[in-house]
Amino acid sequence: MGYIPGHADGIRGQVPYPGHPLRLRRLLPIRRSSAARAKVYVTGSRIGTLCVITVHRQDNLSTKALPCALLIAGIAVLLAVAPASAAGRAEEKPEYDPAIAEIIAEIDESELQHTVSALQEIPTRAFGSGGNRAAGEYLYARLTDIPGLEVEFQGGCLNNVIATLPGSANTSDEVVMVGAHYDSISSDLARAPGATDNGCGVAIVLELARVMSGHSFDRTMRFALWNAEEDGCYGSIDYVEHAARSSDPITLYINFDSTCYDPENRSVLDIIYDERSADIAALMIDHNTIYATNFTLTTNVHTCESDHTSFQVRGFPAVTTHSEEHGPAHTPEDTIDHVSFDYARRNAQLGLSVLAAEAGLRGDGGAAISKAPIAR
Ligand SMILES: [Zn+2]
Repeated sequence: MGYIPGHADGIRGQVPYPGHPLRLRRLLPIRRSSAARAKVYVTGSRIGTLCVITVHRQDNLSTKALPCALLIAGIAVLLAVAPASAAGRAEEKPEYDPAIAEIIAEIDESELQHTVSALQEIPTRAFGSGGNRAAGEYLYARLTDIPGLEVEFQGGCLNNVIATLPGSANTSDEVVMVGAHYDSISSDLARAPGATDNGCGVAIVLELARVMSGHSFDRTMRFALWNAEEDGCYGSIDYVEHAARSSDPITLYINFDSTCYDPENRSVLDIIYDERSADIAALMIDHNTIYATNFTLTTNVHTCESDHTSFQVRGFPAVTTHSEEHGPAHTPEDTIDHVSFDYARRNAQLGLSVLAAEAGLRGDGGAAISKAPIAR
């Protein structure tokens, strides 16, 4: 599906690719805090050495939203009651499923460490930089190494990396999605290791792809590594715009962003949801107990914009999890030593338990493929 560049209500910015991220920000005067909530859609097309980003405004919802880092509520509200269940899913309490317990046990902490380490070796993954493009190619190769996945770059030069695991049930074309953004940003644009924000989220999504591809599911699973989140969620906005226009039956999107930082081992994890995803939040709360991921869960303490917002604005059920605090995000100090890998593993397991239930894990065995090659 194509858009018309230079659409009458659009803004066009031409950005050298690779180039300087600040230039993109100047050319595309939609602030990160408002881009996802405003009804915009974006296109990214490569013309020669230029990445031409076109941002089309539809209507501005003028939501007052602040960057994630500024929205930590003063007091973490410990969860007392489960959020109200939305229509459309069974309201009875979920029961322990040994097949789900087995699949979440396959999540491997060393795989998470491997990916975060590889990503932070790239000096910066800021959108528009050469490192950003290198990271996209690295992640494309990692996903391509996993048998059974169909992998593509999506969004023109927005360079989202999307992998699809086709569902087994021929009666359903429904899609369950999970994603994380792979671009980084920092006060020093040349040094943006982005380990907690969001190399670890990317590592979780890659690990979910590795483990889930060894099993079969009724519904199609799709793994998304978004780009240009830090500039205004442009990657996911582009994808969701296409999905909405195609009436894609996306039943759930789970986002991982800034969700691996727990320096004091408090195990506090925030679930951010809206009314369409309240039943998913409730399921996560139940699974946290049933499958002993042992978080102290809070809900909607953070109200940050990330790629889940792109889905929520378009009416798709979407949730994200978030660490209690941001720590070194958006600084040159956001390095792997700040990542809490036990916390990250349990976060991946909690997400996987919900994805497996939602996608319809088939109890016909299967095993995850071998670990990622060390060379990558
Ligand atoms: Zn982030």
